Amino acid sequence: MASSAAFRSLARRSALLPSAIRPSLVPAAQIRLHSSKHPKNFEAPTSEDLSELRDRVQDFTRREITEEKLGDAGLLGITADEDVGGLALGYQAHCIVMEELSRASGSIALSYAAHSQLCYLPDLIAGTSVGALAMSESGAGSDVVSMRTTAKEVEGGYVINGPKMWITNGPDANVIVVYAKTEPDKGSKGITAFIVQTDYKGFSCARKLDKMGMRGSNTGELNFDNVFVPKENVLGKVNGGVRVLMEGLDLERLVLSAGPLGLMQASLDVALPFSHQRKQFGTPIAHNQFLQGKLADMYTKYQASKAYTYTTARVVDEEGLIKTQDCAGAILYAAERATECALDCIQVLGGMGYTEEMPASRILRDAKLYEIGAGTSEIRRMVIGRAFNKEYAHFST
Ligand SMILES: Cc1cc2nc3c(=O)[nH]c(=O)nc-3n(C[C@H](O)[C@H](O)[C@H](O)COP(=O)(O)OP(=O)(O)OC[C@H]3O[C@@H](n4cnc5c(N)ncnc54)[C@H](O)[C@@H]3O)c2cc1C
Repeated sequence: MASSAAFRSLARRSALLPSAIRPSLVPAAQIRLHSSKHPKNFEAPTSEDLSELRDRVQDFTRREITEEKLGDAGLLGITADEDVGGLALGYQAHCIVMEELSRASGSIALSYAAHSQLCYLPDLIAGTSVGALAMSESGAGSDVVSMRTTAKEVEGGYVINGPKMWITNGPDANVIVVYAKTEPDKGSKGITAFIVQTDYKGFSCARKLDKMGMRGSNTGELNFDNVFVPKENVLGKVNGGVRVLMEGLDLERLVLSAGPLGLMQASLDVALPFSHQRKQFGTPIAHNQFLQGKLADMYTKYQASKAYTYTTARVVDEEGLIKTQDCAGAILYAAERATECALDCIQVLGGMGYTEEMPASRILRDAKLYEIGAGTSEIRRMVIGRAFNKEYAHFST
């Protein structure tokens, strides 16, 4: 069984391997480089370590996949420092866990991803508390810095007032990172991030949202009614919330891009055996060239998306380079391909694909979320365009 100890031994062994025997395309001197988002003394895991991790997550998801058990299995805190109970394994490893969990269950993986964003807190790494991140409001989605929730300074802390919308894990969370305006007149420069315990007086989950997909991952509308938060709970600097938000955004997009990869794998897991077993006109339907075309497209889209995500993650781990256009590009590409793969999967299954007896329609409904949640496809294209505008600014002057 994939135990916490087993994952931890993987982490320790990776850290102990001499860099001389690490297979890598980059010179040994560069391997030690890492981004500020990696734990201290981080060394990128070897491909053998990563494939062992993938096997263990697959084994775990086949046997038991409940949120509490993710903590016991040591799958929380993949990128966090070992000092706080993390595994310090980096972003390739985090993508592998996200992909394999999504392959087994889109919903559990989505909740895992939202929770993971707070996995610098020991209770969340242990899995004894559930985490959520609350930025969006019904009037502030793509334009999230137009949020209206306020945090007014009072003696010893801040008082938060306002609603938050579409918050993954919101109905179940014990701890929420909440973004609120500390200086509403300053726009994006007046936002602060706070760590809020949901047992603080004045916090409530107004309702659990009824969604088309990801139905096993609870999403809530939250309300903050004069919630007092001590000043020690400010995350980062006062009025520096957008910096906290932006710093994490590229890597959040990268890790989330592994979600659609897992869903594409799930589509293939359903469509390939079905189409080789199901016979019409006396032969397996997979021997029909129209269906071979669909299966080939599904497979190719998965492999191309996978290559983009893991190449980007390898550059992050091995060179410490976080490229905004590639983090946004990886999720933009994978998300749209996952929806297409799920549609093809339904078509390959015919009538069975349209029933709830097979998982194909659930995969489609889950996949669509990745074109909307954590930034829409349109906004991701905008982010990529803006990264180019920055890089090529000297041509415009
Ligand atoms: C299941 C689920 C889970 C979520 N989890 C969380 C969470 O945990 N925490 C959190 O804070 N938020 C969460 N969200 C919110 C999510 O991030 C927002 O829904 C998303 O950013 C889009 O915002 P919106 O829904 O307000 O759409 P809008 O911003 O209103 O966009 C509507 C449409 O207009 C387009 N559009 C908007 N502006 C532009 C533009 N400038 N150019 C081109 N097109 C544009 C969009 O692409 C989209 O197609 C979640 C959402 C869902 C559905």
